[in-house]
Amino acid sequence: MIIRDVEFIISAVKPDQYPVTTMPEVAMAGRSNVGKSSLINKLLNRRSVARVSATPGKTQQINYFLINNDFHLVDLPGYGFAKVPLDVKRQWGKMVETYLSRRENLRLVLLLIDIRHAPSKEDVEMYQYLAHYNRPHAILVTKADKISRGNYPKHLKIIKQTLNVLPNTPIIVTSSETGLGRDEVWDLVEKHLVP
Ligand code: GDP
Repeated sequence: MIIRDVEFIISAVKPDQYPVTTMPEVAMAGRSNVGKSSLINKLLNRRSVARVSATPGKTQQINYFLINNDFHLVDLPGYGFAKVPLDVKRQWGKMVETYLSRRENLRLVLLLIDIRHAPSKEDVEMYQYLAHYNRPHAILVTKADKISRGNYPKHLKIIKQTLNVLPNTPIIVTSSETGLGRDEVWDLVEKHLVP
């Protein structure tokens, strides 16, 4: 995919703030610090479209970006930051659940998992949620440059087992440092954008 144009549209917290459009959208989810902002910037070839978080877990909004005037890339708020108060966590859950369960335009959810760590309880819940609601999804394994290539299989196995990944779920290994996986991610996104 050639990124010609990226436009920030809105930070939404409620469904009535989602753009009124039938344009398809692709959402990205993951725990805070997983590397979501860095990967979004890498995918879009931009330095700072998505803010690389200084304070993990601070963004509690659904950020909409319009890409090539063609589709929306949706940055869901990161979860799992320990210091977030319980009421903020609840609010997060409700906001994301509302989005994932209701948004008809949603064509694909990309769930980001750090290659170095076994998925957290929240990662498992998010994956189960996507599988349960039958939302098309894929797993993007992040920060691959942090471990040696020979260790990929061991780490991928733990991720697949912990999430109990469905057989046909695409898993793409990525790095925002090296650009690994970028083309593969866009190929997958393109496949889901065509109706
Ligand atoms: P977010 O909270 O999920 O948006 O995560 P960020 O994009 O802010 O990244 C969290 C930290 O991980 C930052 O210090 C990034 O520089 C670092 N990081 C993100 N992606 C990569 C990657 O692919 N490789 C390496 N080595 N570091 C990364």
